[in-house]
Amino acid sequence: MTIQKNISLKEYNTFHVEASAKYFCEVNDLIELESLFVDDRFRDEKKLILGGGSNILFTKDFNGIVIKNNIGGIEVISEDQESILIKVGAGNDWDEFVEYTVSSGFNGLENLSLIPGTVGASPIQNIGAYGVEVKDVIETVNGFDLEDFKEKTFTNSECRFDYRDSIFKSELKNKFMVTSVVFNLSKDGKVKSNYEAIKNYISEKNIREITPSEIRKAVIEIRKSKLPDPQEIGNAGSFFRNPVITKEKFESVKSKYPDLRGYKVNDNSIKISAGWLIEKCGLKGKRSKDVEIYDKQALVIVNYGSASGIEIKNIAEEIRDIVLDEFNISLQFEVNIL
Ligand SMILES: Cc1cc2nc3c(=O)[nH]c(=O)nc-3n(C[C@H](O)[C@H](O)[C@H](O)COP(=O)(O)OP(=O)(O)OC[C@H]3O[C@@H](n4cnc5c(N)ncnc54)[C@H](O)[C@@H]3O)c2cc1C
Repeated sequence: MTIQKNISLKEYNTFHVEASAKYFCEVNDLIELESLFVDDRFRDEKKLILGGGSNILFTKDFNGIVIKNNIGGIEVISEDQESILIKVGAGNDWDEFVEYTVSSGFNGLENLSLIPGTVGASPIQNIGAYGVEVKDVIETVNGFDLEDFKEKTFTNSECRFDYRDSIFKSELKNKFMVTSVVFNLSKDGKVKSNYEAIKNYISEKNIREITPSEIRKAVIEIRKSKLPDPQEIGNAGSFFRNPVITKEKFESVKSKYPDLRGYKVNDNSIKISAGWLIEKCGLKGKRSKDVEIYDKQALVIVNYGSASGIEIKNIAEEIRDIVLDEFNISLQFEVNIL
């Protein structure tokens, strides 16, 4: 394993912003990881675990060691006619893993198709899309405590999953490295197709037999039509979480904006679209130098080439302030700002 010094992180983040790391290494297996942990040179260095860099915004150089997680491998732990328990190395590409599950007849992940990044990052913010969250199929999350380098396994409930959140994004942020995730997938072929965009796709295409592979196809097509491809235009997907507001607040906004839509979280709380709020403030498509509030989806901020992390962060803060002024609703960043 080579440890590099002062290397550029531009190709390791999907915003494609410039920042450098004091030290950088790519870890391919647990043996390499253990050798890094016992190396006294890095014991006290700040550590950043990096997957695909698709949920990170670098606003400055990283003064520590960036550990790029490439730990691979897929292992079946147990299997019967109804389900399969499968342990997946954290460095596997997320969408390649989803494709593998769908083509093998294991369902549960098809709605999460085409989300960029690695398997190891999937529990960090409990990735979700089209009516499904990864927490629904995670059995355990395995890895190492970055302070005492001891191995630890978290059960699903210990992960404290929530909407775009988990213990790894809050209490244990930058303190735990995920090395593998165990998924519990079904073989019953049942799908979740009640998300509006999927329903519309199915009816437009007149699909009669809705299989996991049809759902995967639908999700890929819908995503490609709405979201910028980070290979072509720098971005990190949704910049903000969708806010959850009280029923009273919802009614008060709706009285002014009758087209407001909400998704019931519980009897008192309703989730609304952050993209809708940003759009209503007239910000969709606004561009400042190379930073744009994406003209096809206001929740996404894009870098057309030369933007810095600071410039992107400044625009995100401006959006947050304008939405707060207009609606008295405080948006939270979904992207990890460093
Ligand atoms: C076009 C686009 C669309 C997207 N759509 C969605 C979507 O629909 N739903 C959704 O939820 N997200 C979405 N995202 C966000 C992103 O893809 C996910 O959050 C993804 O899981 C990040 O994976 P990554 O490997 O790139 O993580 P990184 O960006 O490398 O890291 C993200 C965070 O997780 C930590 N981390 C990463 N790997 C590990 C590990 N092994 N152990 C401990 N900590 C780790 C990092 O330190 C960092 O804090 C989208 C992003 C883009 C660019």
